Amino acid sequence: RGKRAFIAGVADDNGYGWAIAKSLAAAGAEILVGTWVPALNIFESSLRRGKFDESRKLPDGSLMEITKVYPLDAVYDTLEDVPEDVKANKRYAGSSKWTVQEAAESVKQDFGTIDILVHSLANGPEVTKPLLETSRKGYLAAISASSYSYVSLLKHFIPIMNPGGASISLTYIASERIIPGYGGGMSSAKAALESDTRVLAFEAGRRHKIRVNTISAGPLGSRAAKAIGFIDKMIDYSYANAPLQKELSADEVGNTAAFLVSPLASAITGAVVYVDNGLNAMGVGV
Ligand code: NAD
Repeated sequence: RGKRAFIAGVADDNGYGWAIAKSLAAAGAEILVGTWVPALNIFESSLRRGKFDESRKLPDGSLMEITKVYPLDAVYDTLEDVPEDVKANKRYAGSSKWTVQEAAESVKQDFGTIDILVHSLANGPEVTKPLLETSRKGYLAAISASSYSYVSLLKHFIPIMNPGGASISLTYIASERIIPGYGGGMSSAKAALESDTRVLAFEAGRRHKIRVNTISAGPLGSRAAKAIGFIDKMIDYSYANAPLQKELSADEVGNTAAFLVSPLASAITGAVVYVDNGLNAMGVGV
């Protein structure tokens, strides 16, 4: 039987989540995605209208099939956690069962189990503010959407993950080195995500034989990255300074993800794997 993957954080064909979905599909996995509720309508209608058909093409010429799109808001664990104003919001009221717990229940009802869980989402409302100007609310929101969301996803999906399954998330080197411009507590959120990767690898490994890794990806001009405002500068910087002087393609991250969740990586867990043309290894810009 082919493997089944749930990829949280796909809402267009530009980001890492989409590229990971494609690499997993090319390797024969069945693809389920979790799409942020406010982005759901446009994503589903674009998919239906064929807007993504060109980028759905797999190496063998076939088109990636997304078996099902689930609405998801990973800052809410259960229905009880959702504030009234969000419940009443037109976009949110238009769909249902989008808390993490409900999404896991829906996947269980529809498919029983999964083998692969991918977390490819982040959000920091004050990302453009330096840390010294970040409010407590903004900082905690960044941690909630970008770090705890992964703990919650794993917690709720582990019960439906087959033993031998694997999980990955996406992180950024701003967790360990100073990257001015990656503010609002997002650097802190990625540091938490990387630390949690180790602890979760231990707990999920011991209890469920599930592997947990994170990919520290180089800069990509995704929708989320464009919102930060400095992505073109980061891409140019990487091109100028990395050991490999080429543009990083999302597919290179997708292929690493496919490797990490496959049996080829059966002894790799708790790791931060750099997919950044080697930029992390540099000590100075040249
Ligand atoms: P993206 O815009 O494709 O993906 C981010 C997704 O998160 C979007 O689909 C958005 O709708 C979703 N999202 C935001 N809040 C959510 C919530 N509360 N619940 C559910 N979904 C939510 O952008 P991307 O850059 O591909 O980001 C994917 C991951 O890669 C993120 O973790 C990001 O930090 C990481 N990353 C990106 C870069 C880069 O340069 N683009 C570099 C390193 C790491």
